[in-house]
Amino acid sequence: MTGLARASERLDGAVRDRLPVEFLGAIDFHGHLCPGLTIGYRAASIAMERLGVARGSDEELVGIVETDACGIDAFQHLTGCTLGKGDLIFRDHGKQVFTLVRRADGAGVRVALRGDALGSDPERTRLKARVMSGEATDDERAAYQRGSTDHVLELLELPDERFGAISTVQVQLPPKAGSFPSVVCAVCGESVMEPRARVRDGAPCCIPCSTRYGRGWEINV
Ligand SMILES: [Zn+2]
Ligand SMILES: [Zn+2]
Repeated sequence: MTGLARASERLDGAVRDRLPVEFLGAIDFHGHLCPGLTIGYRAASIAMERLGVARGSDEELVGIVETDACGIDAFQHLTGCTLGKGDLIFRDHGKQVFTLVRRADGAGVRVALRGDALGSDPERTRLKARVMSGEATDDERAAYQRGSTDHVLELLELPDERFGAISTVQVQLPPKAGSFPSVVCAVCGESVMEPRARVRDGAPCCIPCSTRYGRGWEINV
């Protein structure tokens, strides 16, 4: 049955008791507890509090995330802005920056993780490298896991201002996403949304097919 248990239920009870209830839902959605998820949880909580919006309020919100790491799962869970609904904008900047915007007036709060918020613990870094290499012993793996949980708890307790650079922003949002017609890719025969289509030999084609046509650097996919 353990395979079916929610990720939050698999946590050590003493750890689970120290975690905010809304965070437990994010852990279930993400599938595990990790420092990265905690970053998104903190960023979303700070942004919602500063913007004065509660989870599940019918205030229309738009999220802008500049990372595709673990944290965006917590951000989506807490704010309700999701990629699928079209109210989450992903900018592939590789930065731990999360912005929450009220659609009605474009008022937003931007939270950028501080460079020193994660601290620097050489032992944690060493254990992580061992685990990532796949060569860690069981003891090292357990020590890494304990360190990771400690790290989560540290991040949860960090004062807002030490966690992130927080600013109020005014954002010009794009209009709500409409639906677009599809065209059929002349190479693979699959449908592609027209604004994403490319042209090859004068005929529409999809991005994957178009990347095999050209000098190789035009599109990064
Ligand atoms: Zn994670
Ligand atoms: Zn194609």
